[in-house]
Amino acid sequence: MINEFHRDTWIEVDLDAIQANIRQLSKRLKQNTVIMAVVKANAYGHGYLEVAEAALDAGAEWLAVAFLDEALFLRKHGFTAPILVLGATRPDDAGLAAAHGIRLTVFSADWIRSAREFLKEDTLQIHLKIDTGMGRLGFTDLKELKEAETVITDDSRMNIEGVFTHFATADEQDRTYADQQQERFLACLDVFEKKPAMIHASNSAGAFLRDNAAFNAVRFGISMYGLVPSGDISSEMPAPLTPALSLYTKMVQVKKLKAGDKVSYGATYTAEQDEWIATLPIGYADGWIRQMQGFEVLAGEYRAEIVGRVCMDQCMIRLPFEMKEGTVVTLVGNVSNDRILLDDIAAHNGTIHYESACLLTARVPRIYR
Ligand code: PLP
Repeated sequence: MINEFHRDTWIEVDLDAIQANIRQLSKRLKQNTVIMAVVKANAYGHGYLEVAEAALDAGAEWLAVAFLDEALFLRKHGFTAPILVLGATRPDDAGLAAAHGIRLTVFSADWIRSAREFLKEDTLQIHLKIDTGMGRLGFTDLKELKEAETVITDDSRMNIEGVFTHFATADEQDRTYADQQQERFLACLDVFEKKPAMIHASNSAGAFLRDNAAFNAVRFGISMYGLVPSGDISSEMPAPLTPALSLYTKMVQVKKLKAGDKVSYGATYTAEQDEWIATLPIGYADGWIRQMQGFEVLAGEYRAEIVGRVCMDQCMIRLPFEMKEGTVVTLVGNVSNDRILLDDIAAHNGTIHYESACLLTARVPRIYR
């Protein structure tokens, strides 16, 4: 599908790669493990609808998002698969979620008592979240967990469908902390009078940590997009995974600067000799942030450095020689024997590839193939 657009910067998302990644990952799972495709944050910048459809076609059975609005967006666009909201939802919205068959993450007994006021006839499917060491959302007190089970069991409009936790260090070689979290999780499971149907703990990295870590469902995000969660555990992830996202732009002006000429706001870059400079129509409003200054992109097949400050909508690169206006510049992707990964951008900016992918804003058109 090609969306119509009128600028020379675009993202290409390879949906075949996403599907191949899911199939590759699923080979290493225990039989009958449910795959939840994590498509929050516009599918990590790749596009909610296209990725959700591709993931479900490739064998994912569930979708997971961070907020109720994201789940409602998917429902509005016809997705009928079960969707789990991983983040917090207001108790006032419990009825709305139930009416759309959207599963909510619940982490306090008070929330459950408040939500009862907003439920009508539809049953709310609940996944209880246990904080086993992430220090984010989740029950920490076993008594409160038991109380939650009792309150839910007493109300026919609610059902505990799942129980889950989230590992803080699944992407690190040292397993000590993740092991402790898993032990705590197993202890919490003993609290339940009736074991919930779905038990899940693992993100991409966690799923391959140890046998139990997959329980009977996994929540795949980053690996589905073809990115290895961290260098630390790359050898343990199923291979090969293929990055699905590429980012391209074109040179909209190429000009010769003389020694001493300046580039961009603040006039911080000075040409040392006669230099060929190309202007690219991408800037920080596209998520191509100011820290990208100094990063090397691929002008045609040649490395070229971003010089001067990155502007809101444009940035400039120094070419190794004169090139034609309209030449394609690869910001993320493969060209001949060279490639630029989201990981390279993340390393340059002192962050992680998750953030680099999510930063790419809606203004950049996405093409799917
Ligand atoms: N589960 C939860 C609760 C998450 O917050 C996330 C992502 O942040 C995921 C699963 C997916 O993680 P990953 O992208 O590392 O597979």
